[in-house]
Amino acid sequence: MCLTHDVDNITRPFSHVWKIRKRFGTFDLVRAAFGASLYDNTMLIASAEEGRGFRSSFYFMSSEYQLERVRHVSDLVRKDGWDIGLHGDFGTHDSSEKMDAAIEKFTAGLGFRPTGLREHYLRFDFAKSWSVMEAAGFDYDSTVGNADKLGFRVGLAAPFHPPGDDWNPLNILELPLTLMDTTLWGYLKRTEEEGMKDSLAMMQAVEDVEGLFTLLWHQESVRMVGGRIYWKIIDSVKKKGCFVGSGAEVAKWWRGRSVPLVKKGNLITLGGRPPDGLVLHVETGDGRTPHVTSGSVEKTGAQRYAVVVGGPDFAMEVN
Ligand SMILES: [Zn+2]
Repeated sequence: MCLTHDVDNITRPFSHVWKIRKRFGTFDLVRAAFGASLYDNTMLIASAEEGRGFRSSFYFMSSEYQLERVRHVSDLVRKDGWDIGLHGDFGTHDSSEKMDAAIEKFTAGLGFRPTGLREHYLRFDFAKSWSVMEAAGFDYDSTVGNADKLGFRVGLAAPFHPPGDDWNPLNILELPLTLMDTTLWGYLKRTEEEGMKDSLAMMQAVEDVEGLFTLLWHQESVRMVGGRIYWKIIDSVKKKGCFVGSGAEVAKWWRGRSVPLVKKGNLITLGGRPPDGLVLHVETGDGRTPHVTSGSVEKTGAQRYAVVVGGPDFAMEVN
């Protein structure tokens, strides 16, 4: 399960809040009247996730608010393992120029270059977007999903390397989007109960095929009617006991798993470039121990070892 949040807004004028007051509780409305923002919930979400042992991704954009205003919160959650990526402004999905400008603004505002991406309004051009993202050096994108209906946009519930112009796989990973909160309320006009039922049904469909479920829940929505079921959703995810991570974590795990181990007699080498920090958990029989070149070995139990892969020349012999 990959948890993600697009950050479209962090504040709205009280006149706007008042106009949609039916979507908020009384307590929050009073707070808003005294100047609190009901749209700035990154810390609220992060602490609820932390309580359940989860980390997620937040995607920030430069066109709707000053990135400097979210720098402090970005620094805080990043330090504790949350993933902060780019929410692409309009036009970035099919223009390298606009993408580069957005990355530049993001880097200046938040102090680091983004490695993960989701496009605003899920804007995507199958002929152009992946090439633009690849040229910009992104590690992963998570834009390919349905906005106006439930289901799997390209029929996949697993990360994949999309094809480039020559049909060879690109380096960038696509983490296809499974469900967006606004699909439930904005497009399908579900009630809260129906929305919860739909979310659980989609989760079950992915669990049945042991796939990846990527959830997009807008950070501005979690205090609203509808959006507040996020807390229930993460509770049911917790009960499932599945792997839960940010986009960056899922991409790292996938890349780690896609490096084949090549076995020749007692010798094991890698069939590709390992990701940084790759650790192999090794169980041996008959009192044998692993010996490695370019890496290190730590005993973690009876005949169990954590083997840290040091680089592409890694080799391991078990004898
Ligand atoms: Zn957006």
